[in-house]
Amino acid sequence: MTEADRTVEARDSVCPFCGVGCSLSYAEGTGGATGAPGPINADGEICPKGAAAFDIVTHGERLTQPLLRTDDGFVAASWTEALDRIEARIGEIVATHGPDAVGFFASSNCTNEENYTLQKLARILGTNNVDNCARLCHSSTVAAMQDRLGAGAMTNTVEDLREADAFLVTGANPAEQHPVAFRSYLLPAIQDGTTLIHVDPRANDTTEAADIHLPVRPGHDIPLLNAIAKVLVEEGLVDEAFLDRRTEGFEAFRASLADVDVAERAALAGVDEDDLRAAARAYGEADRAAAVTGMGMSQHRCGTDNVHALLNLALLTGNIGRRGTGVNPLRGQNNVQGASDAGTLPSVLPGYRDVDDPAARAALAEEWGIEPPVEPGLTEVEMTHAFGDQVRAAVVLGENPAATEPDGNATAEHFEDLEFLVAIDLFETETTQYADVILPGSAWAEKGGTVTNTDRQVLRMRRMTDPPGEARRDLDIVASLGERLADRPFASDPAAVFEELTRVSPIYAGMSYEGVANGGQRWPYPDGDDSGTEVLHQDRFANGDRTAPLVPVDHVPPATAPAGDELVLTTGRIITHFNSGELTRRSETLTRMVSEDALQIHPDDAADRGVDDGEVVRVASARGAVTAPADVTSAVRRGTVFLTVHFADSPVNRVTADALDPTAKIPEYKHTPVTVEPQ
Ligand code: SF4
Repeated sequence: MTEADRTVEARDSVCPFCGVGCSLSYAEGTGGATGAPGPINADGEICPKGAAAFDIVTHGERLTQPLLRTDDGFVAASWTEALDRIEARIGEIVATHGPDAVGFFASSNCTNEENYTLQKLARILGTNNVDNCARLCHSSTVAAMQDRLGAGAMTNTVEDLREADAFLVTGANPAEQHPVAFRSYLLPAIQDGTTLIHVDPRANDTTEAADIHLPVRPGHDIPLLNAIAKVLVEEGLVDEAFLDRRTEGFEAFRASLADVDVAERAALAGVDEDDLRAAARAYGEADRAAAVTGMGMSQHRCGTDNVHALLNLALLTGNIGRRGTGVNPLRGQNNVQGASDAGTLPSVLPGYRDVDDPAARAALAEEWGIEPPVEPGLTEVEMTHAFGDQVRAAVVLGENPAATEPDGNATAEHFEDLEFLVAIDLFETETTQYADVILPGSAWAEKGGTVTNTDRQVLRMRRMTDPPGEARRDLDIVASLGERLADRPFASDPAAVFEELTRVSPIYAGMSYEGVANGGQRWPYPDGDDSGTEVLHQDRFANGDRTAPLVPVDHVPPATAPAGDELVLTTGRIITHFNSGELTRRSETLTRMVSEDALQIHPDDAADRGVDDGEVVRVASARGAVTAPADVTSAVRRGTVFLTVHFADSPVNRVTADALDPTAKIPEYKHTPVTVEPQ
């Protein structure tokens, strides 16, 4: 345990699952996790996943020693043997093909320090081929918000959303995916009279609290949002003073709405026109209206444009720069915000400065003694597609891209093509089966460091126990890889690495490891502040501009339209499980609650195909097929079916589409034409 870890009196750490960032502690009595009062969960409340967080730490299937691939399968090895193998093979590949022949997959489930060190290793080695799985969830949201406002993060805090008079929740299901944020802040506001508009093809736990449900046809958010914009303008629900003071391009934007026929767009989006108009009025008439957005918006080939259309609504109505307003992407993993903040992105350095930004490059050169490469690297999906060709070797830290990337059968072939793969993980996963070297890493309770939650708050993780067997802390592992591959010392003390991050990333400047110990410090963090900036864009936008543009956005149809009797598969998450399920499916408690996937299908669609409730069905696309029992329910709109992303027995990404958003390179997970038939 480092000195920095020893100085904290509490044993509280941060939940390893969603981006809310609840504080957890170790319950001596039960040997499990318990909620601890923290910056977000002030009363110590947690959800079922948080309560099961220790199930993963103590699980008997944890990897406990390095494994090397041989002709006879994996064999246990010493750390020296494993690191020797990595140094030799990656060294050969770099010597033969150059550093861009190596790709680095960072982790939204690892700390800021681990991610910072991994991108530092990649860049000192000479490549910007480093990315994290934000690419697969909110890269389009970040792209649009960074472009328009200068910051790709929640404009507001989870706490101040409590002050909204209306919520426009689009493509998100916070009641299940961010339960403590929903129960502690959104739901109390709704119970006090805040109007909830829920835009989602599927009625779920969030919809239960909604005043208006717009069951949008997957892939048709832009027609819906443009129609709302038209109603706002037609009915004088725009904020003229804000438009004058803080925006540009209103007249051109208004002109672009001339072609928008509200009834026709509502029909195209598959929603009732009166409901759409009611939603527009509720949003436009509210003194404070907050948009909350999720992967139902971002995971489309037009994900960036979807968010641009949503930003237009906030700008039209002056719902930005005040408490209880804004555009607020809820982040899915406990450090998906921080992984990107720390620079694990191929086109930007720590703090979102372009890889060719002279000031950023100079700051890094001063710290590292070497400038990072100037050309942007490949994104996660681009790297996978380049396996065996442009990319010969990969290092995967705590992620499972073989399961989480779209078009899984093709992804498996890409992994087969890779010459050398290093996987750092807690368990064997779909990805480790392709590895040449598997390194046993550390669980959340075994490490110190920091994570940055969904509302930009840097929170301290604290080490409660040691990794099992010969498993090591992830930061030690990445630092060892750095020393072997880049031939220089790498710090492995979280405090030292965090302090380095504050020196090279302007948005973290002024924070300190001790300062984030008791309550978070939020970026941006102005000089002399003690907690950071809660509401962004108050007088100026984060890019320094006083005004932001209104941008006309045209509908972009999904890459592939359903043909014949195909339905549209969309995907999502449930409260009891997390991502590919590698962690939560190992919890007996969570698995007792839900142990298998189910295909939600509308009763009319089920009847048309002779599918009975509970019957196992085959769900097939042009890319592959999975099976799952049918859950016949009118919760899902006709023509749409739904599977989660959590279950290895129904690996939904064997089916999903891989059309990419041209700006953010996020795959179109949320719209895949499929056939459904009894198995
Ligand atoms: Fe963990 Fe999120 Fe649940 Fe809080 S709401 S306990 S951070 S999964």
